Amino acid sequence: MPHYLDTVPSSGISRIRDMLYSVKGALRLDQGDLSFDAPDSLKTAMHRAIDENRTHYLQTTGVPRLLELLADKLRERNGIPVESPDQVMATNGGVHGLCVLCQALLEPGDEVLVPDPEWPSALNSVLTARGVGVRYPLDESRDWRPDIDEMARLVTSRTRAIYINSPNNPTGGVLTRDDLQRIAALAIERDLWVISDEAYESVVFDGAEHVSIGSLPGMYDRTISVYSFSKTYAITGVRLGYLAVKSGQIRERLTKLLFLTASNVSSIAQYGGIGGLEGSYEVVEQFRRELQARRDLFYAGIQEVAGRVFSGRPPRGAFYAFLRINPAWRPADARVRSISWAMTEHLIERAHVGCVPGVDFGQVGEGYIRFCFGRDRAELTSALHSMQALFSATRSV
Ligand code: PMP
Repeated sequence: MPHYLDTVPSSGISRIRDMLYSVKGALRLDQGDLSFDAPDSLKTAMHRAIDENRTHYLQTTGVPRLLELLADKLRERNGIPVESPDQVMATNGGVHGLCVLCQALLEPGDEVLVPDPEWPSALNSVLTARGVGVRYPLDESRDWRPDIDEMARLVTSRTRAIYINSPNNPTGGVLTRDDLQRIAALAIERDLWVISDEAYESVVFDGAEHVSIGSLPGMYDRTISVYSFSKTYAITGVRLGYLAVKSGQIRERLTKLLFLTASNVSSIAQYGGIGGLEGSYEVVEQFRRELQARRDLFYAGIQEVAGRVFSGRPPRGAFYAFLRINPAWRPADARVRSISWAMTEHLIERAHVGCVPGVDFGQVGEGYIRFCFGRDRAELTSALHSMQALFSATRSV
């Protein structure tokens, strides 16, 4: 009998990472990691925590000062009516938060609606909690927003939750207030939980608005919101995230799981987070402005160097270009399992440009490719030059 975890797929992103380790001078547009240095407010606070020997066990759900600052942030920035810092729980990044919350929420066989395409860990967290992922399509022609009537048709008596992720990885789609109001109405009508992954909340472009579904009337009761410092403060390796949860019962279960899986989040990370929250928010705004400039640079460049091969509109959020591969494109050595894997291998082997095949995010993603434009301008420009050389040499379309 296979163990149930044997059926949880492993992410293609880790396979690509391994492929890239053997490529000298690889241009790392594959993983979702910003090139920015961590803000001084966080670094100073982490140094201070070490100097002051704050290196011992801490409260399971987080140090009180961090939770207090986060509760204020959730009320002020997100409009979520958090009643007390007890309703905030620190996690070892968003991945940890999502994984434990699926375990705290789901019974075996419970269905969760998950977008397609979507960052693979969302579905895998559901599967790891022995839930069932039911995919709802995101639609490129609607700027990668779902059709909510279609979403409603997927709800059954086994549906326990809807997972949403706005801004979205990999598509960069941003749900509008109207979309969220309709999803909220569906959740209320069918008595569902909403898992709202807001890891990219600070990265919206062209004046787009990030709306937290937990701020809509009646929704905080049935929403668990997932946040991360990774993208907001460019500290993916430090590992700090948090959950906002009103339900006392779910929080009790989460506290057990947090203790079992982490005991507490690294003290250094938590004190760093306090420094970040006490510091100026301007640094996050600077990151956002620079990311918008990088987005524009990358899209103008890709249009120029490979407009025959890739197409797609610039996203309104996150820092990924999710581009459609011209269906006429074929690699010279066609061992083609999937067009998006073939393109990924082609770009890594021949142009040394890292990217992720769309199919890794779901069937709807097949035929697409994801590039991260959160790398610095020099790396983006080198990647564009490298692709230009490749595509003009091979004349493959
Ligand atoms: N949610 C989404 C949609 C993500 O893309 C990621 C990271 N790629 C996360 C959550 C979690 O990030 P972390 O664990 O670094 O906080």
